[in-house]
Amino acid sequence: MRPRDSRGHTLLEVAIVGLLLVAVAAFLLYRTAGPGTKTRPGAGLRTPIVAAKDAACRANLRTVRQAVEAYRASDPDGAAPASLDVLALPAETTRCAEGNEPYIYDAAQAEVRCPHPGHETF
Ligand SMILES: [Zn+2]
Repeated sequence: MRPRDSRGHTLLEVAIVGLLLVAVAAFLLYRTAGPGTKTRPGAGLRTPIVAAKDAACRANLRTVRQAVEAYRASDPDGAAPASLDVLALPAETTRCAEGNEPYIYDAAQAEVRCPHPGHETF
């Protein structure tokens, strides 16, 4: 048996490995930042990033709604806060985690909702 050539890899071997790495990178980029990353559920691919931002928005809304309820419970008349500023929550908590729109607060109904498209039911 002839001893193995120890000069390293041929140009063809290096080119094949390079093409495989480019293909894997393109696939991962498509999955994380390609079309569908800005769409709503049902309108296309729902990426993990969008799902995480949706979950963060739901968590923000839950926090704000609990703060509104806590305010009402501690108010002698059971009145809702006049605005979300009264609650002194962190600024990022009173905004959508995905679109960064400030939440819409209805003081008369003591309701908080997200104006971001697709978040109306959160
Ligand atoms: Zn939102």
